[in-house]
Amino acid sequence: MNRRDAVKMTASGALAALGASGVIPRSGSGSAAAQAGAAPAFALPPLGYAFEALEPHIDTLTMRIHHGTHHAAYVRNLNALVEKHPQLAKAPMEKTLAAITSLPAEIRDGVRNNMGGHWNHSLFWTVMTPGGAKAPSSKLKDAIDAAFGSVAGMQDAVNKAALGRFGSGWAWLGVRRDRKLAVFSTPYQDTPHMVSGVRGAVIGVDVWEHAYYLKHQAARGAYLTAWWNVVNWDKAAENFARATS
Ligand code: MN
Repeated sequence: MNRRDAVKMTASGALAALGASGVIPRSGSGSAAAQAGAAPAFALPPLGYAFEALEPHIDTLTMRIHHGTHHAAYVRNLNALVEKHPQLAKAPMEKTLAAITSLPAEIRDGVRNNMGGHWNHSLFWTVMTPGGAKAPSSKLKDAIDAAFGSVAGMQDAVNKAALGRFGSGWAWLGVRRDRKLAVFSTPYQDTPHMVSGVRGAVIGVDVWEHAYYLKHQAARGAYLTAWWNVVNWDKAAENFARATS
């Protein structure tokens, strides 16, 4: 190992110890992998923008807790599962999630909740942005118009799915196997891969109370109205292109 490699390794080791969120892990949470100096299999991805960047639509404290506590917990729990079931780190998450019902019973719920939570939130941060396009790209808009009549019609359908989700879950705009757009909802941390006939997600909105309760209390509809202001239409276009290719 040359000196530059040694410096690189030291830097990445220090980053791993600090955690991707920049939060020093609590003592006692150190896994066998962490104690051995290996990076955990799954990491909390950075938001890509500041916690306050989505103000006034999505508040800073909600973003901080949502990312640094809730998402971080899914990642931590998932890494704990990987220690006992290392095969979970070897396949792409999408493949594992699509095959959730064939996983061994003793890890099925843990994977569903925690790998599902990690996947859903990792997408969620990317489909929000403080800047960028304020409307769907022309290709995505054409598909939206074909399926829902208009962008407003699509937003109504997503809002209905989100408001109709009893308890916790997600509402999605996604692409079906026939490459047409559809709106659907998933319970808890179930992902679009677990929905039969779905090819991919375009955008998704988290309707767990932790996503909106600090600012909106029980008013899920007010949160949804605010959320549409921060949708990352550039990312939506990219997701749509991938799911229809
Ligand atoms: Mn959440």
